[in-house]
Amino acid sequence: MKIAIIGAGAAGLMAGITAKRLNKNLHIDIFDINSGIGKKILASGNGRCNISNTTVTKENFIGENPSFVSYALQQFDFKAFEKFCKSIGLLLDIKETCKVYPLSNEAKSVVTLLEGSIKSLGINLILETRVEDIIKVEDKFVVKSSDKEFKDYDKVLISSGLKAAPQLNATEDGMNIAEKFGHSLNPTYPSLVGLHTDFAYNNKMQGVKKEAEVTLYIDGQKENAIQGDVLFTKYGVSGFAILDISQYAVYPLSLYQDVQIAINLFPKINRNELLSMCENLFKNLPDEKTVLLLTGIVSNKLAPILLDVCHIDKESYAKNINAKQIRGLVNTLINWRFKITDTQGFKHAEASGGGVRTDEVDSKTYQSKKCKGLYLAGEVLDVVGHRGGYNLQYAWASGFVVGKSLTK
Ligand SMILES: Cc1cc2nc3c(=O)[nH]c(=O)nc-3n(C[C@H](O)[C@H](O)[C@H](O)COP(=O)(O)OP(=O)(O)OC[C@H]3O[C@@H](n4cnc5c(N)ncnc54)[C@H](O)[C@@H]3O)c2cc1C
Repeated sequence: MKIAIIGAGAAGLMAGITAKRLNKNLHIDIFDINSGIGKKILASGNGRCNISNTTVTKENFIGENPSFVSYALQQFDFKAFEKFCKSIGLLLDIKETCKVYPLSNEAKSVVTLLEGSIKSLGINLILETRVEDIIKVEDKFVVKSSDKEFKDYDKVLISSGLKAAPQLNATEDGMNIAEKFGHSLNPTYPSLVGLHTDFAYNNKMQGVKKEAEVTLYIDGQKENAIQGDVLFTKYGVSGFAILDISQYAVYPLSLYQDVQIAINLFPKINRNELLSMCENLFKNLPDEKTVLLLTGIVSNKLAPILLDVCHIDKESYAKNINAKQIRGLVNTLINWRFKITDTQGFKHAEASGGGVRTDEVDSKTYQSKKCKGLYLAGEVLDVVGHRGGYNLQYAWASGFVVGKSLTK
């Protein structure tokens, strides 16, 4: 049997290795645009590769039907992944946070060992080849690049991901090819990405980082709240809490809904406590400039901006500030509202939301319900995971399940 796999990323490589291990007689060709395999694995986790997570469930995924991932995650849980890693010689470092990294602390090890396994199994890599189309002629598939046709495939797996990080040659080709086979698509959007705000002081706040709680409001309704680092940037906000909240903010934004975040700069102090801290500070040091006292509470860069936002004179002294103004300052510190206007885009996103609709793919075999012999796995499907190794774990798990069914 002859199999074509489009995309040498986590899902495609896992599928190829799994299938070939089960049946040495399979002829497997893995196509990729790039000159090397696993470019996104290499870029992941800032080159360290947050390769998996020990506690992965459907709750860690977003999409039209997050339950779609359950079967693959059960069939190929973290223990199964760890066993697979050992089988290719990759040892893992499991952190207390449940995040998993290669013991070498380098994504390069992961790709080198996967490549070693691909080569020793006799899987063909057809690199620097962009698959532009796939057609079915009777019961065989033809894979087409711009200048060549690769024929006689009994089965084809599309595991070519989506558009996050186009600088790594990420494309939506797979999704578009699936559409030609009758699949419907949910619109794609950047996920795990920095957010633009319409705040006039962005340039001045640039570089300030603070552990905070970020609450998301869509059309005025509270949607979600996440704690973590917030980094103020020249375009708006980034940092882990923002990347996480972006997973819920970007799609409504693409629908032109009103998207706002509220940042609580002091999530671990309750409002009344913070209020009395500020009141005491202002009372005890009445002859100090207000802006100076605020630098004891927030970053130097934020203090004058806070005063502007609260319409308090920057030249004022603590003794000039009344109780209402202090309450206003505290309210801003714990509920600083920003309107989200845009995102940093696919170029800076770690993942893509949207993709091929999962109800048109069998969750147990990953075979298309629209075309026999066509399979889809990994990020090309409308499934996107939280930050923390979930996206890669899903790519491995769906790759494993589809790899098994490709042999049947
Ligand atoms: C900067 C960055 C950091 C990340 N960090 C993490 C992390 O630490 N942990 C985590 O879990 N996830 C992380 N992710 C997400 C994770 O890398 C992806 O979700 C995962 O790699 C998806 O795997 P995949 O095999 O489905 O697709 P991909 O890895 O995207 O693989 C698809 C392959 O298909 C190829 N391709 C595309 N179009 C074509 C075509 N027309 N013809 C031939 N080949 C084609 C691409 O070159 C690519 O090699 C990160 C992503 C980015 C961009």
